[in-house]
Amino acid sequence: MNRRAKIVATLGPASADKRVLRRLLKAGVDVVRLNLSHGTHDEHRRNLQRVRRLSTQAGLHIPVILDLMGPRYRLGHLPAPVTLRRGTLVSLGLEGEASDLVVDDRQLIDALKPRDRILVDNGLVELRVEGKANGRVTAKVKTAGKVDSRKGINLPDSDLPFTISAKDEADIRFAVDIDADYLAASYVGAAEDIDALRRSVLAAGGKIPLIAKLERALAVANLEDLIASADAVMVARGDLGVEVPLHKVPILQKRIISAGRRHGKPVIVATQMLESMMERKRPTRAESSDVANAVFDGADALMLSGESAIGRHPVDAVRTMGRIISEAERYARTIDKNEHSVGRLADVDLFAPFEDSDGGGSRTIAFRIADTIAAAAVHATHTLGLRHVVAFSQGGFTARVISRYRPAAPIWMLTTMESVARRVQLAWGVRPLLLDDDVQHHDEVISRVDSELLRHGLAKPGDAIAVLMGDPIRERPMTNLLRLHRIRALKSG
Ligand code: PGA
Ligand code: MN
Repeated sequence: MNRRAKIVATLGPASADKRVLRRLLKAGVDVVRLNLSHGTHDEHRRNLQRVRRLSTQAGLHIPVILDLMGPRYRLGHLPAPVTLRRGTLVSLGLEGEASDLVVDDRQLIDALKPRDRILVDNGLVELRVEGKANGRVTAKVKTAGKVDSRKGINLPDSDLPFTISAKDEADIRFAVDIDADYLAASYVGAAEDIDALRRSVLAAGGKIPLIAKLERALAVANLEDLIASADAVMVARGDLGVEVPLHKVPILQKRIISAGRRHGKPVIVATQMLESMMERKRPTRAESSDVANAVFDGADALMLSGESAIGRHPVDAVRTMGRIISEAERYARTIDKNEHSVGRLADVDLFAPFEDSDGGGSRTIAFRIADTIAAAAVHATHTLGLRHVVAFSQGGFTARVISRYRPAAPIWMLTTMESVARRVQLAWGVRPLLLDDDVQHHDEVISRVDSELLRHGLAKPGDAIAVLMGDPIRERPMTNLLRLHRIRALKSG
């Protein structure tokens, strides 16, 4: 498969079945997401195990993202739907008190201040706070509509403190227990929120990379710090489009992707990419363009939500997305001015210093060395016509920084760790090759790279390639060595 941008598919009732899942993998799903806002731990455990089993059978390494619900605010129980008329005043209080609308969280009431917007049900209904008295909020209806029990609430003007709910804590322990590959962090606002989640994962006895979901105005304001502290990011356009004006979402998508590229962190573009395929077999023209433009913006991965989880055509949605991505990438290659990388997708300067979170410490030096070697390898794909770039890397960092230069040559990551082989799938263009035994010396790495590429029919003797590794191998340092050579034929016998 020579598609470079990845496809994330959310599993749900429409796709968890063994037969559908097998077809989804065959159609090209690279990453699976399980949404912890729905379903039970038992269901998610079964789904994760099914993904692991079926992908192994298909010879694939498929990571599973568990998506935390996060501090999601909702209306409480309403005896009946309430119709809110424009210009009228409504009261908002805690459950058990006589108010027009009830909410399930005191923090929400406490945080609201006059003039704050209260958005209900994906922003379809808008209220504005007028005042507060005796623990009850009075708000004016700005956009009319009908609201019902449990509808989601967004508060774009309040900086409610991020909290890890009891449910999230339990979900984090669960994620550690089932060895999830990624945790997606919903509604984070700042780097400290990612740090708090990381501590919670650690306390549960695990070490799971965190995907920061950019879906609050506050998160956008803290974009650089959030990206620096997370392992990957998601342009979560569903909630983002409620919390910031919708006309800003396309530009934010570009800004977030470009920030991810500077930091060497994969970026997922999510929500409503092929929304109409929930019902129909063919997407709208606008959706087809949206998928292609996310590729042109340089996204690492594109996500399906309802389309694959509860839609009528999950397999078609994956196939359609794959076709649009491939065509966009073909186009990006034809307009390539710098042939070492994929045309329009390559807006990362080979000579700009790598941006990282360690502010000049010894880790920064090690990161920059790895990144400089990655840039040199990508440069060499142009000057020397290299056919493959291969990273022998323990954590996947080197593969990620090679990926950020969007080389035209395929990127392979050789690893002895199954979990690393899975996780690296999130990065643009990176494909894992799993070794079943360890390697002790750099000469051995080279011969294993050659034999693995030949064995899988990915290359032929005489192909010029780049191999990146940390030497001496036994000490597991960051990448510090680049070898350029031609693949040697396997010795027979
Ligand atoms: P969700 O996140 O699907 O978990 O809400 C994505 C988004 O908000 O776009
Ligand atoms: Mn969301």
